Amino acid sequence: MDDMDLDRLDSPAPDWDALQDDRFRLEVRDWLRANCPPHVRFPAGRMHWHECRDWWERLYRKGWIAPAWPRELGGMGLSPYKQVIMAEELERHGCGRMPDQGITQVGPILVRYGTPEQKAWYLPRTLSGEAIWCQGYSEPNAGSDLASLQTTATEDGDDYVIEGSKIWTTLAMDATHMYLLARTGRGTRKQEGISFLLLDMRAPGLVVRPIRNIAGDAEFCQVFFDRVRTPRSNLVGAAGQGWAIAKSLLGFERLGIGSPRRPQLAFARLQQLAAARGLFDDPVFMERFTALRLDILDLSATYESFVEQVRRGEPLGPDVSLLKVWATEVMQRCSELMIEGGDEHAAFAGTVDVDGSPVNVLAPFYSSRPGTIYGGSNEIQRNILAKAVLGLPQ
Ligand SMILES: Cc1cc2nc3c(=O)[nH]c(=O)nc-3n(C[C@H](O)[C@H](O)[C@H](O)COP(=O)(O)OP(=O)(O)OC[C@H]3O[C@@H](n4cnc5c(N)ncnc54)[C@H](O)[C@@H]3O)c2cc1C
Repeated sequence: MDDMDLDRLDSPAPDWDALQDDRFRLEVRDWLRANCPPHVRFPAGRMHWHECRDWWERLYRKGWIAPAWPRELGGMGLSPYKQVIMAEELERHGCGRMPDQGITQVGPILVRYGTPEQKAWYLPRTLSGEAIWCQGYSEPNAGSDLASLQTTATEDGDDYVIEGSKIWTTLAMDATHMYLLARTGRGTRKQEGISFLLLDMRAPGLVVRPIRNIAGDAEFCQVFFDRVRTPRSNLVGAAGQGWAIAKSLLGFERLGIGSPRRPQLAFARLQQLAAARGLFDDPVFMERFTALRLDILDLSATYESFVEQVRRGEPLGPDVSLLKVWATEVMQRCSELMIEGGDEHAAFAGTVDVDGSPVNVLAPFYSSRPGTIYGGSNEIQRNILAKAVLGLPQ
């Protein structure tokens, strides 16, 4: 363990969950104001590790890197509602998302399904940022229909030998480890025979190829496995239990993706552009602008009613899917109106001078595109709403 870990362990972690909700919110807000460095606020895209490492370490030293983890494992031990408060304050402050899949996904899975050895090895390293994780689920022919995945892991002595490929793996180029789903057997249903494995990205035979997106950034990658070995001790849960393990994470965190904060920010940019270009005098623009504003206000009110449900300690039902559809699509509509309103300025990437005001006209368009695809595409969310909420026939 390095000095940073010792610093952290020397000071007993306060019980943040015991604070009254409003007091906790203010405490978080004040600390973020004083400690969050400007370079991690409102980034244009996903932050790479080298861009946010200092911020991660600051949160880690404070004991705030893992709000949902139990306190005895180095987390904050927050109740679901306090986790929502924490997420809202980070979002309000514009703190960009870090390579946090180890914290949000691997940690909770290991806490529930990991062996004592897996917990002892991986959890402290995940907290400190020594282990940075990427998610190896999607494949070239398995996205929405994830259970069709074809990557195999075959037992060979003390190892599994992995063959196949994963795609759209966010920040794989920064990751030291991957958690992945691979086929260790076959059953009558395609969900059977899938296992959940952990893998060191430095294993021989593993190749990471970054993919450049429409905005010119490489945020995700394709990863190839040519007889890549991982010890059998890196199997999480039982062989063939991977599908159930991966699904077990679907919970109240689905709320975050439907938060109104990002549409609100896109709308604020639209407002800035409209002011600079004198668009408020155009009745056709005003009609669409007002419709968007009302849509975002409705989204905020609906979001609050789900947050209230979490505060009461109630589980969220399938109807929470409507938030994701609403938030991501209203944000796309804001970005499209911005392009129309920006006229010739929308032809340029980066911040441009719009009639005397600096505006990045294209940024909301680019950043809102993936939202309707990841986290379960919006068509899949509509299927859920149709089936589980409206009771429509298949
Ligand atoms: C920015 C970004 C980051 C990502 N990061 C990761 C990551 O880190 N790790 C990872 O494993 N994956 C990641 N993904 C992949 C993501 O999970 C998949 O893109 C998603 O599951 C959709 O799968 P697909 O791209 O194969 O599209 P497909 O599943 O092939 O879908 C194509 C189209 O068909 C529609 N469709 C599919 N099935 C149905 C249906 N039954 N009914 C109606 N419409 C349907 C979809 O909605 C979509 O419009 C990321 C994706 C993006 C955009």
